[in-house]
Amino acid sequence: MISEDIKLDYDDVLIVPGKSPIASRKQVELNVGIDFPARRAGFSGIPIMAANMDGVGTVEMADALRRHGIFTCLTKFHAPEQLAEYFSADPERRAFAAVTIGIGDEDWEKFTRTAELTGAHLTYVCLDVANGYTDRFVDCVRRFRDTFPDKVLIAGNVVTPEQTGCLIAAGADLVKVGIGGGSVCETRVKTGVGYPQFSTVIECAHAAREAGGRIIADGGCTTPGDVAKALAAGADFVMLGGMFAGHLEGGGKIVDRYFRCDEVSESGELVIDKRQFVEFYGMSSKTANEKHFGGLQNYRSSEGRRVLLPLKPDLNETIRDLLGGLRSACSYVGAGNLRQLPERARFVRCGNTHNRVFEELALQETGAIRI
Ligand code: 5GP
Repeated sequence: MISEDIKLDYDDVLIVPGKSPIASRKQVELNVGIDFPARRAGFSGIPIMAANMDGVGTVEMADALRRHGIFTCLTKFHAPEQLAEYFSADPERRAFAAVTIGIGDEDWEKFTRTAELTGAHLTYVCLDVANGYTDRFVDCVRRFRDTFPDKVLIAGNVVTPEQTGCLIAAGADLVKVGIGGGSVCETRVKTGVGYPQFSTVIECAHAAREAGGRIIADGGCTTPGDVAKALAAGADFVMLGGMFAGHLEGGGKIVDRYFRCDEVSESGELVIDKRQFVEFYGMSSKTANEKHFGGLQNYRSSEGRRVLLPLKPDLNETIRDLLGGLRSACSYVGAGNLRQLPERARFVRCGNTHNRVFEELALQETGAIRI
């Protein structure tokens, strides 16, 4: 069976500007309030999340992003004692960070210990698997909800309205949507499975509202404009991996590389330029499996890639660019805040979103050659 409707990615659409009472971007409010009454909790901040990936979901990143009102899902690889110390040391932290767990028996035991140690200092938990369609996963969401009724539960990943509704019915507060669209993800190449992300967001956001829950648009945003499109399409939060990767706060391995430039020094020698890169990889990649699970099991393929990203020295600069873009998007459609953005935004389907003529040149910097 083939669905003949065309489904879209962020790259297939643009937001149409409309009459706007917003005189300046400064007037745009990016903080939102999201209530989880059943958990007696509420989020107040900017609805962007750092992904629970190595190189992104660290406590250092969480502390840096929290200062801007941005949330972080910590990786699965923090020990219960470390998490207890982190959350107990500063009660503010529980409002901007989630503990992430998988669905294995050892994950359950580890989380039970974490919950004992953190107690009321922990609010958000992210139950994260690559494939949120298994009965085992839905059972785990239900078991979590029955055992920990006061925690805000993030669960995923899925890409269809039916499974979004199913996870909410099982007890998830926020469903993470997106399969195969991530920057270091190879699921679509290795399995042929996925769903265009922009359409996923629209369809799952609608289903979540009907079921009384919310969604996180996870993966595939490569620019601040994509984040604006996700929020305008109805995402309650947007989760970013690659856009937050490459910073020191992510704790990734730093690699020095030397390049020969087309430049000669005063003493007549070719200038050698040292550049720093940060390792970043998908959490289903061979690299991640070797690091955390003693290698790839022989029944699995690697569904993620490893890349070296140029070190971005200033996280604040990245955040300024991101939030500046969001404010501007809101002002183009006359939205004074993010709640108004989906109400006011209209989209146009397009074949080409922007002019790429000098894009390569800007990326090449000096045109140096690696030695
Ligand atoms: P990004 O913002 O980098 O485009 O996407 C981040 C998301 O990619 C993560 O939150 C997660 O859902 C997904 N992801 C991370 N690692 C892998 C991987 O190795 N394989 C797949 N299929 N998805 C991944």
